[in-house]
Amino acid sequence: MTQITDQIADIEERIDRTLARSGRTGETVTVVAVSKRQPASAVVAAEAAGLTHFGENYLQEALEKISTVANSSLEWHFIGQIQSNKTRSIAESFSWVETVDRTRIADRLNDQRPEKLEPLNVLIQLNLDREPQKGGITADELLPLAEHISKLPKLRLRGVMGIPPADLSPTENRASFSAIATEAERLKTHSFAIDTVSMGMSSDFETAIECGSNCVRLGTALFGPRSTVSD
Ligand SMILES: *Cc1c(COP(=O)(O)O)cnc(C)c1O
Repeated sequence: MTQITDQIADIEERIDRTLARSGRTGETVTVVAVSKRQPASAVVAAEAAGLTHFGENYLQEALEKISTVANSSLEWHFIGQIQSNKTRSIAESFSWVETVDRTRIADRLNDQRPEKLEPLNVLIQLNLDREPQKGGITADELLPLAEHISKLPKLRLRGVMGIPPADLSPTENRASFSAIATEAERLKTHSFAIDTVSMGMSSDFETAIECGSNCVRLGTALFGPRSTVSD
């Protein structure tokens, strides 16, 4: 077995155990393989080992990789901050955007999504702790943005995404994940037909699943260390 095959097997086992102890046996968790600063060959190997969802933060790097890999059965997730002059390429090349946090970006993605493609799956990025260096919105902005996105025909609102602040205690980290999950539940209460709570990365995905995540974004846990090109 290749190394990535071993890593995937280990992660799936950890996910299954976490679901079982959370009383969620039978549910599934989507693994988004975060391939930023990994070569296209790593994506090909992960695909051969069974993964279909891949996440990228940096648009130029992503576009090159998507065209090198050239596999139309993969679902690419854009997980980086979105500049409004980059929305066209995102709308044309990705299946999911996890970092939508304002109406202007949503409108542009909707206008620029090619007619021949399925609607773009969208997650609203939350930033409940108002961290200035991160994108995302606060709880009071969630319903208005969700309502806006729901009216756009080429976007499909699927849920929320969030990243707890770095260096929280384990207890605070758990509380942060739970707060994100609570916002997803609130959307459901308001009749939004969402199905995705994207939270949890390599170091904390089991905690995130315990708190309600069903989509984890894993880079180093799958691929090992990234090359250290500056952001
Ligand atoms: C880099 C990144 C990840 C993956 O991080 P790891 O710690 O390597 O798993 C997940 N989500 C986002 C938004 C990222 O930028």
